[in-house]
Amino acid sequence: TMFVNKHSRTFIFKRLPRNYRQFTSSSTEDYDLVVIGGGSGGLACAKAASQLQKKVAVLDFVTPSTQGTTWGLGGTCVNVGCIPKKLMHHASLLGDAIRDSKAYGWNVPDEVQSDWTTLSTAVQNHVKSLNWGHRVQLRDKNVEYINGLGSFKDPHTVRVKESNGTERLLKTRNAVIAVGVRPYVPSQIPGAVEYGATSDDLFWLKKTPGKTLLIGASYIALECGGFLNGLGFDTSIMVRSRPLKQFDQQMAELVAESMESKGTRFLRKCVPVSIEKDSRGRLVVKYEDLTNRQTKEEVFDTVMFATGRHAVTNNLNLEALGIEVDQTTQKVFGGHSDDHERTSVANIYAIGDILHNRPELTPVAIKAGQLLADRLFGGSQVQMDYNMIPTTVFTPLEYGVVGISEEKAVSCHGEENIEAICFGDRILGLHLIGPNAGEVIQGFAVALRCGATWSGLSGSVGIHPTTAEEVVKLHITKRSGADPTVTGC
Ligand code: FAD
Repeated sequence: TMFVNKHSRTFIFKRLPRNYRQFTSSSTEDYDLVVIGGGSGGLACAKAASQLQKKVAVLDFVTPSTQGTTWGLGGTCVNVGCIPKKLMHHASLLGDAIRDSKAYGWNVPDEVQSDWTTLSTAVQNHVKSLNWGHRVQLRDKNVEYINGLGSFKDPHTVRVKESNGTERLLKTRNAVIAVGVRPYVPSQIPGAVEYGATSDDLFWLKKTPGKTLLIGASYIALECGGFLNGLGFDTSIMVRSRPLKQFDQQMAELVAESMESKGTRFLRKCVPVSIEKDSRGRLVVKYEDLTNRQTKEEVFDTVMFATGRHAVTNNLNLEALGIEVDQTTQKVFGGHSDDHERTSVANIYAIGDILHNRPELTPVAIKAGQLLADRLFGGSQVQMDYNMIPTTVFTPLEYGVVGISEEKAVSCHGEENIEAICFGDRILGLHLIGPNAGEVIQGFAVALRCGATWSGLSGSVGIHPTTAEEVVKLHITKRSGADPTVTGC
């Protein structure tokens, strides 16, 4: 073994005993904070703590997907989530724009085609630049980055298995669990684990996806289905019950209808039975149509499961520490001692997707991480507010939302008290389907957090001509039964 002293640049060679274990614990060091997981939440928390002059280490390790895909620093959002997804969504919208441009006088060919290799290479290069950017940021902010798998030895000791095989023990006053969640592949379906890709693979596929089946009704299934169809791939989405079950159901149906009208096929009330590979390397999917109990068969090039995301907390040794996790989701319970992110062990916190019953969204993880660092080291008492979190489903026609659904509003306040998801004058929820809905809803989300009212909204003047003005021009409610179709300019 060779030890290198960075400062004096001397090299020391040592012979190790023959029976020396590969994973021998070495240094024991003192930190104010060790963060396990270098994704959106973990990085934000680590950087904010370090800015408050604390000694911080962040561990990040990517366990390969079932198809063997792996990636760099930054977590789900950067590598296999929001960023590559949004780039591919944008690529698909550009295709629409090129086709539309003909009607605006642009001389473009009748057929335009997208090239997957060019697109995915560009996306991957962008992601790699972000990986690098995160490393530079950590270095600049004095956060120690360790590429290793973390687990707890005890509440004040984190064990790290570094990617080079060595093991370290880090003594720390506080620890944050920010390990995120990973796609769930239903292993009871023959061939699912062997042949089924997930969103962890899609953006890093070495060959073009070809004819693709997405299994699941989540926003991830719809977003990926939307851009694949837009890029010209034959795309089907297999849905057991309803699309976007967590969202307002009227809006969810509008999203699905608009996708269908653009060519995405929905196999409704169908469930996969098995996947096999044929002699030509294509995937033969057997599935059951639940409406008539018929088993059908179809051949695809790519099958992607978007059937939920599960927490991988079982390798953190949480049970030995007495940290409580939900039995179904395996997510960590927060909310102890009135701190939203504190676990049942006083000096250990959990943020981001891993926290039970909280939205799985990047800005949520980031804000919770920053606020936690401020409370731990900056004397702040500000807690994360998980209410009124806006989000957008980036389907070809985007669906932006802030606040509650119509179903929730009715169940909480009674149908007779609800008009346009308002309770009295107070706006409880705002839902918009249209181009750039994410951009539009971001602004209105601030208004709703500040207590926006129906009279305030309808008293506002729109910006013409925009899609956002439709929100302030709202004057027909569902209950009135009047036709809401926009006429005029
Ligand atoms: P992650 O970002 O998942 O980071 C956790 C990190 O910890 C990972 O790098 C993981 O490998 C590492 N890790 C795990 N275990 C260990 C261990 N024991 N030791 C060391 N490291 C470990 N959110 C949005 O807000 N907008 C979107 O448009 C959006 N689109 C999405 C699209 C897709 C396809 C997906 C999958 C997700 C999307 N999300 C979106 C969700 C968003 O990516 C997550 O909410 C966010 O990344 C959660 O951050 P996190 O810090 O909790 O965890």
